[in-house]
Amino acid sequence: MHVRQAVVAGSFILGFIAAGALLQQSQAKVLPYAVEDSSLDALPLDVSRLDLFARSSEESTDWYPVEAPAAKTTSQALVIQQLIEENEWKNDLILGFLPTTVRERMPRIVQSWLRCYLACFLLYTITSGLWAYYIYTCFGRQLFKDGHMPAWSDMYEQLKVANVSMPGYAVLPAVTEWVMEQGWTRSYTRIDSVGLVKYWLYFALYMTSVEFFVYWMHRGLHEIRLGYRWYHYIHHKYNKENSLSPFAGLAFHPLDGILQAIPYCWTLFYIPTHSLTFELLLFMTGIWTTNIHDCLHGRVEPIMGAGYHTIHHTTYQHNYGHYFIFMDYLFGTLKVPDSSKCPPIVA
Ligand SMILES: [Zn+2]
Ligand SMILES: [Zn+2]
Repeated sequence: MHVRQAVVAGSFILGFIAAGALLQQSQAKVLPYAVEDSSLDALPLDVSRLDLFARSSEESTDWYPVEAPAAKTTSQALVIQQLIEENEWKNDLILGFLPTTVRERMPRIVQSWLRCYLACFLLYTITSGLWAYYIYTCFGRQLFKDGHMPAWSDMYEQLKVANVSMPGYAVLPAVTEWVMEQGWTRSYTRIDSVGLVKYWLYFALYMTSVEFFVYWMHRGLHEIRLGYRWYHYIHHKYNKENSLSPFAGLAFHPLDGILQAIPYCWTLFYIPTHSLTFELLLFMTGIWTTNIHDCLHGRVEPIMGAGYHTIHHTTYQHNYGHYFIFMDYLFGTLKVPDSSKCPPIVA
């Protein structure tokens, strides 16, 4: 890393620290859980529901004696309770097909993991399957030059890698939800409680942090030799235009997938983030990553489209960024696709 890059990266990190500190100072005015109110008893917080291994809300604390998380105010306790209800609502939504007797036997964190796994599986299978059908079966001849479509065997292998790793990926959101329920993050549950302007301000800060750390995590996985050889190489087996496909989107070593997604989670500790927005963003990456592996280059800057990511797969040292090209531009790794040379090109 050059000195200039180190200075820019250091400025970003200092900026995040300063923003985190400033936001903590102003929390009392904008976030519900920071309202000074010591009458915790006023809220009937169901402590048993906060236990990691509590199987259902009916379980009594006699079975699982637990301490309430560090809810310092009634408002914080309210946010925690809303987070728990939100997670149970999501479990009901996805796991509704399971018999009640089965679900009652499952610890809540296992239910959350299973729900995240199934949601990820459905999202990946439907999105990549439909997209592959559309671009290869329906319009393959118009979109791809001869020899530029991936072989079925490559797509099958990518599907296999993604499906083996997916149970591992699902651990990240399930554990993050539990961490949020403990009141350790700055997540909030209702947009009304901060107002629309602050919601978007926090969102912009959150995404800046995500873009910055995903960029460096990805670049680190290339530049640290063991990171590449042990983990990231599995994704880079598909390094030609005719071996990449939408199915490569989630074809990672499980730890590689988790490492590249973890900035979405640790940013919650210093930027106030709407809980449902966080989860939707995390799962949106499943759709995004399908799209950037199809090799169909369209001019969508400053969004980092498939043309940029195809270059990443063929040069290994450019375009590490996430949704946008800004980080590569700032840190000197941007390589803009040449429309006349970047096959295949949409007419
Ligand atoms: Zn890479
Ligand atoms: Zn890739």
